[in-house]
Amino acid sequence: MPILEIECPICAEVLELTDEDRAELSVGDVIVCDSCNAEMEVTRSGEGEDFELDLLGVLTVCPGCGEEFDVTDEMLAAAPLLESPDGSQVSVVECPHCRAKIELEFTEGSDAE
Ligand SMILES: [Zn+2]
Ligand SMILES: [Zn+2]
Repeated sequence: MPILEIECPICAEVLELTDEDRAELSVGDVIVCDSCNAEMEVTRSGEGEDFELDLLGVLTVCPGCGEEFDVTDEMLAAAPLLESPDGSQVSVVECPHCRAKIELEFTEGSDAE
């Protein structure tokens, strides 16, 4: 059975979608990355490799107040980026509920831009 491999735009984890998975997905459905909880909306679902996702955001649980919220692309673009001594990058976003500063760590998986 052919498997479509999709790289998560946030953490570069490879998500595998079988034909069966694809059959259950239609445009507008949301896929959640197993490893970083990024939410991606299916924007195209055709034959074979004809498949596209749009990043919606990353579902994050605030360690301060326990509320869930979405970290969107815009929030990440606006978030200050800190570099840890070990080379990993940390984005600092603010919880919309309690204003706690939350550090999000993303592994840079893409070497080809
Ligand atoms: Zn991910
Ligand atoms: Zn909070």
